[in-house]
Amino acid sequence: MLSIRRNPGDESMKVIEQLLKLQEIEFGPQSTSADHCHEASALRDEIPAPLLAHYDRFKARAKKAVALVHHGVCGGCRMKIPSGPYAALIRDEDVAMCEYCGRYLILAPPDPAPVKPARRGRRKSADTLVTA
Ligand SMILES: [Zn+2]
Repeated sequence: MLSIRRNPGDESMKVIEQLLKLQEIEFGPQSTSADHCHEASALRDEIPAPLLAHYDRFKARAKKAVALVHHGVCGGCRMKIPSGPYAALIRDEDVAMCEYCGRYLILAPPDPAPVKPARRGRRKSADTLVTA
């Protein structure tokens, strides 16, 4: 009995995002607070059972089932994702899974502009010792 309703144009939240959210709640520091329990169970109601089962297998081993992908690298196992699956991930076709560690993959948000403490202490070369 699979009746995953998908209203076209109304994809407020993708399944993988729901999984990630659930993971953040359940692995978060406040996972036992009442609010979070409520939110987690609401998410569990939304997420298709097979995905949830996969997630729970990871969770049973205290592992996260959803890995963020940074620069084409799986955040779970640090393996480089082959170009085919990576392209599919970018095209957002389907729920992608790392073929090495089995985690679900979600593209990490693009890095914010690198905040470098580029304060290059513009030191005047006062230390050019002028020994008289
Ligand atoms: Zn992986």
